[in-house]
Amino acid sequence: MRTWILDESPGAYRAGELPDPEPGAGDVRVRLTASALNHMDLWVTKGLPRPHVPHVPGSDGAGVVDAVGEGVEEVAVGDDVVLNPAVGCGRCGQCLRDQSPLCRSFGVLGEHRWGTHAELVVVPARQVVPKPAGRSWEECAAYGLCALTAWRMLRRARLGAGETLLVVGVGGGVSSFGLLLGLTMGARVAVTSRDEAKRADALAAGAAEAYDSADERWPVQADVVFENVGAATWDKSLRSLVPGGRLVTCGGTAGSTVEVSLPRLFFRQHELIGSTMGSYREFEQVTALVARGLPVPVDAVLPVDSFPEALARLEEGAQLGKIVLRH
Ligand SMILES: [Zn+2]
Repeated sequence: MRTWILDESPGAYRAGELPDPEPGAGDVRVRLTASALNHMDLWVTKGLPRPHVPHVPGSDGAGVVDAVGEGVEEVAVGDDVVLNPAVGCGRCGQCLRDQSPLCRSFGVLGEHRWGTHAELVVVPARQVVPKPAGRSWEECAAYGLCALTAWRMLRRARLGAGETLLVVGVGGGVSSFGLLLGLTMGARVAVTSRDEAKRADALAAGAAEAYDSADERWPVQADVVFENVGAATWDKSLRSLVPGGRLVTCGGTAGSTVEVSLPRLFFRQHELIGSTMGSYREFEQVTALVARGLPVPVDAVLPVDSFPEALARLEEGAQLGKIVLRH
C-alpha cells in the first residue's frame, strides 16, 4: 500500500510503500477515503511519544471496508464506515463496563498502532461505525478523535443544560468540539482565545462571550471550565469557577505542571477532573450527534500527497477547524 511512513522517532515522514496489512480474526480492513490531522501526527515525529517503527501516522479517518477477518459478522465488505481511534482490548473489566479509556492495553490509532494516512488500515471490527448518512467524507473523517475527547470531558464534568461552560483556548480541534457539544447540551458557552479570528469564529458558532486568553482576568463565572491549555491559563481557569464548579482537562499544550491552591480548592469545593479519549458507547453517541447535524468544522481539504503541507499548517496553528486529507 501507498502510505506515509515514519522510520525513526524523532524523525520526518516519507511517502513510500509497505506490505498491505491483512485482517486477522475479528479485524476489518478499511480503504481510506479521507483522513484528518491531529497534533499526535506532530508529536510522534518529536519522540513524544515514540512509536514502534516503521510507523504509519493518522488517528482519524473514514472509508470503505475492503476485507474482513474470520468471525466478523456485523460489518461487510463494501460498507461505508468511520473509524473510532480509541482502541480497548474488549475483554477486561473496564472494557466490559464501557470504560475502555481505563483499559490497561488502551491504545490510539496512529500512536500505538498503524493509522489512517495510508491507503489501508486494519482495525478490530469494533473500531468502525456506519458512516452517518448525509455527511461528507471529509466531515466524517474529521470528527472522531476530537469530538470523542470533548464529549467524554463534558460528560465527566456533568455539564447540565442551563449551566455556564467556559472553553479555554478555543479554536483547536478538541476545544472547538467543546464549544459545539456544550451548545448541543443546552449550556451557555463562553470562550477564550488569543486570536481575534478564532474569537469571532466562536461567536458566530454560538458562543455567548469571547475573551482574550491573555487578559488578566476573564469576567465569567462558569459551572464547568474546559481546559487543554495547561500552565499558561490554569490559574485564571480556576478563578473563573463558581463555588462547586468543575474543571475538566485532557492535556496541557502550554505547560504540563501547574500549582493548585488547596484552600481555594476545598473552601470553594472545586473538582479537578482528568479525561482522555472516550469509550465505544461515547463514540456511538457523538456519531449519532453528527448524523443529526452537529457541525463539523473543516478548515482545509488537501490531497493525501500534500501531508507535509498539511502538517505545516497544523503546526502554524492558524486553522479554524480540522485539516483533512482526501485519498
Ligand atoms: Zn480492556
